[in-house]
Amino acid sequence: MNGRTAQSVLREVFGYSSFRGFQREVIDHVAAGGDALVLMPTGGGKSVCYQIPALLRRGVGVVVSPLIALMADQVAALRELGVRAAFLNSTLPPRQAAAVEAAMRRGELDLVYLAPERLLAERCQRLLDECQIALFAIDEAHCVSQWGHDFRPEYGQLAVLRERWPDVPRIALTATADVPTRREIVERLLVDARMFVASFDRPNIRYRIVEKREPREQLLRFISEEHPGEAGIVYALARHTVEEVARFLVAHGIAAAAYHAGMDAAARTENQRLFKAEEGRVIVATIAFGMGIDKPDVRFVAHLDMPKSIEGYFQETGRAGRDGAAADAWMTYGLADVVQQRRLIEMSEADDAYKRLSMAKLDAMLGLAEAADCRRVRLLAYFGEASAPCGNCDNCLSPPQVRDASDDARKLLSCIYRCRQAGGFGFAATHVIDVLRGRLTDKVQRFGHDRLSTFGVGADVPEADWRLLLRQLVAQHLVEVDHQRFNVLRLAEASRAVLRGERRVELRHRPVTVRGKSRPAKGTTAAALDPAAAELFDRLRAWRGQVARSRGVPAYVVLHDSTLQAIAQARPPSIEALRSIPGLGERRLANYGAQLLALVSG
Ligand code: ADP
Ligand code: ZN
Repeated sequence: MNGRTAQSVLREVFGYSSFRGFQREVIDHVAAGGDALVLMPTGGGKSVCYQIPALLRRGVGVVVSPLIALMADQVAALRELGVRAAFLNSTLPPRQAAAVEAAMRRGELDLVYLAPERLLAERCQRLLDECQIALFAIDEAHCVSQWGHDFRPEYGQLAVLRERWPDVPRIALTATADVPTRREIVERLLVDARMFVASFDRPNIRYRIVEKREPREQLLRFISEEHPGEAGIVYALARHTVEEVARFLVAHGIAAAAYHAGMDAAARTENQRLFKAEEGRVIVATIAFGMGIDKPDVRFVAHLDMPKSIEGYFQETGRAGRDGAAADAWMTYGLADVVQQRRLIEMSEADDAYKRLSMAKLDAMLGLAEAADCRRVRLLAYFGEASAPCGNCDNCLSPPQVRDASDDARKLLSCIYRCRQAGGFGFAATHVIDVLRGRLTDKVQRFGHDRLSTFGVGADVPEADWRLLLRQLVAQHLVEVDHQRFNVLRLAEASRAVLRGERRVELRHRPVTVRGKSRPAKGTTAAALDPAAAELFDRLRAWRGQVARSRGVPAYVVLHDSTLQAIAQARPPSIEALRSIPGLGERRLANYGAQLLALVSG
């Protein structure tokens, strides 16, 4: 590959015209033999940071990755671009492994993917001694951190790379690493490394958090109105919810399947395979699903239940829109989420310090869910990044109305207090709101709560608003919910300040729901295509599906959605014009150019 520049490789092999962010700097640094640590969010474009230097340097680039399940697809995608790539892991039959090793010795490979345990074996190290190595790329480098949740002991031993092959540059890459983890990666794996830290913003993801009313119906509406026929992930907390929701979606004509740790392993694997291999499928899953899912064309991630931390929310929503095209992160959220997550923490067997930490993380997540200002600003601030309102979240697109609800809050708090005084160990939300609204239910009459001074004082406020207010009071620790006793409500210490008029309470209303139709273009989306383009896009997808099936690879390995959308919009009339479509490198132009032109003109 001599005589080539980083720019020409990007253009000819990958089909992109310009580098993103600091890709260029990383590539120059590593190609020149330096060590680097690269932090970029999922979908940020880490891969070319090691793939291009591997192509520019002599010898084979050795990529260490713990995600064995992904290697075959990664290699298929590279071969699709004309890159000589292979993998070595336990899933490969011995004869094929021997063939890969022979190709490495002959210098016939540009890139080889290895599992860390294999790399640590003496046999494999001897093999590498016999090869010319262009670089070592250590993917998911945060696995080296003993304190992280993905710790892998083999990663700690990868220090052998710099000892045994001191002259080979190393590049460590990850999408999740706080400052201590970054330090650990550098200390354990690298030498004089340059650190490249990208913004964690995912501008193509639109964040929305909606009031939870009838979550299944809301979800169905969201999918059928905004993402018909598109791939998405739906997360729910409980296994039975996962199964119910998957059945419900299927009953309404959506190609959905379930995934959770309690399922039969074969069924689970098959559902995951279908999700990956076929287009437009929805997977309903617990958070057991996701590690190592790098399907680039996931158009939405929906949460039916709130995650327990912002890290979790960011990681899960980050599985949407890796290809850079517009994607949705959509969540339903209600009082039950607050109660349930607090309960899970309180009932866990962890020690007090851990419970306090978990509670603080949950509170940060609640702050995000309750926010009236830009969600992205809050998300990024949580990761230490300052930013300005984004214009691509629900709060930016349709700012909630905020009104002073201190009076109503006092009514609600007093009502909780009076009911409890008058009725033993207290009452849950529904009853308290009935009393406030002056409804003469059986229960109200039975307890004589129609004689309370707070009976009917809130008749002018709709029930939904009372629920909203109550949720906000619970989220702010002004009201406690006793989940061991039928979710009865209790005033928390801090509520006194509200009752005494020393603390203001605001109520946030969302005037209209934000729908996908009115979205401004932040990356193209199938829904934003004009009818003629949409028709062409459908034909291109159908063609791509055939190609993928006949070749036994996932559709996105053939061509990405974003590439098809760009073709559908631009209708390029010639090979020259096709060349300017992002994602069409020389190999793909040679393989598919004529067919694409025929589809465009046909
Ligand atoms: P990750 O950081 O998650 O590993 P990838 O390397 O898979 O991300 O890249 C995400 C997507 O961005 C891929 O579809 C990739 O082809 C695309 N991409 C990477 N670099 C560029 C670029 N310079 N221009 C356009 N698209 C790019
Ligand atoms: Zn915003």
